[in-house]
Amino acid sequence: MDPKNPITVTSPLLPPLEEFVPYLEQIWQSKWITNNGHFHQELEKALCEYLGVEYISLFTNGTLPLITALQALRIQGEVITTPYSFVATTHSIWWNGIRPVFVDVDPNTGNIDPDRIEAAITPRTTAIMPVHVYGTPCEVDRIEAIARKYGLKVIYDAAHAFGVKQNGRSILNAGDISTLSFHATKTYNTVEGGALICHSKEMKQRIDYLKNFGFAGETEVIAPGINSKMDEIRAAYGLLGLKHVDAAIAARKQVAERYREALREVKGLRLFEDVEGVTHNYSYFPIFIQADEFGETRDELYFRLKEHGILGRRYFYPLISTFSTYRSLPSASADNLPVATRLANEVICLPMHHELTPEEVEHIIHVIKNR
Ligand SMILES: *Cc1c(COP(=O)(O)O)cnc(C)c1O
Repeated sequence: MDPKNPITVTSPLLPPLEEFVPYLEQIWQSKWITNNGHFHQELEKALCEYLGVEYISLFTNGTLPLITALQALRIQGEVITTPYSFVATTHSIWWNGIRPVFVDVDPNTGNIDPDRIEAAITPRTTAIMPVHVYGTPCEVDRIEAIARKYGLKVIYDAAHAFGVKQNGRSILNAGDISTLSFHATKTYNTVEGGALICHSKEMKQRIDYLKNFGFAGETEVIAPGINSKMDEIRAAYGLLGLKHVDAAIAARKQVAERYREALREVKGLRLFEDVEGVTHNYSYFPIFIQADEFGETRDELYFRLKEHGILGRRYFYPLISTFSTYRSLPSASADNLPVATRLANEVICLPMHHELTPEEVEHIIHVIKNR
């Protein structure tokens, strides 16, 4: 492999340029470049249909819908969440002046462990914010039962779960609100972008006010909203991208199947299994290195891959709970989070995207196996 041309962990799904030009011409002709224009409305409709959800609001990234969800549901006090995620999950809680409470994760999925949620509930708890890590669905029924029992709201950070279905139904229908990220690194992107899925017309209306400064008309502001409106150029790019995303997911699936077949029996290397009844999106391919059996530590393998031009990523290391902002929280101690701590120390996400060639995949497998 050419070291000047490393194999990256991800590659953006870029629609063919020539197909994008007519969209741009239409925007230029209309002179309507942002604020709920034609393509914005079209993309919301198309995503509802593609994903199998009823109400969706587009955002400029995947972090602001998390922040806005907490605002829209008037969440305060404490929110139970997972440390095994991208920092934006916990940041969204912090930005609302809410205290995050970390709960450990399931060793077989990396998702929040429902068995540990109840012990973390206090009189100040108002919501749970789980993450469908790597696109694997959380145990949504059990989380819902706990939320009902204690009168809590549930906001899913579904940034990894674009298109994921469980028993034929979109996982985005779980909870009070789910959010998506359409960042360039994700399975489906609008360069930067995101979305919020809710389950009533009234809630969507409130969300749409909140993402436009709280404006509910020319002269009326109903809440201290933010500006997170997706513009027409990115909405058009997203509409075009939807035409190509199925092929991209199919290509990812082939890579995942080959990795799985080749790496399943490697000693000291653990994989997460696909979950029965789930339509996966193959957004990530994590492997977990048990150093004593594998004969190399996670970091040794990580850097050796790098020497061979293979850029994995240690998602999610370090844990969010170890960052300076959060590590003084009582729930942030490693004693409280033994499973998440172990996963964070063992994980490498292998290159996973639609443009990986069979030769590249074989090279990656060869380097891992020949330690
Ligand atoms: C990518 C990501 C986000 C943030 O999305 P942005 O679009 O980058 O703001 C939030 N949560 C998780 C789990 C993510 O992976």
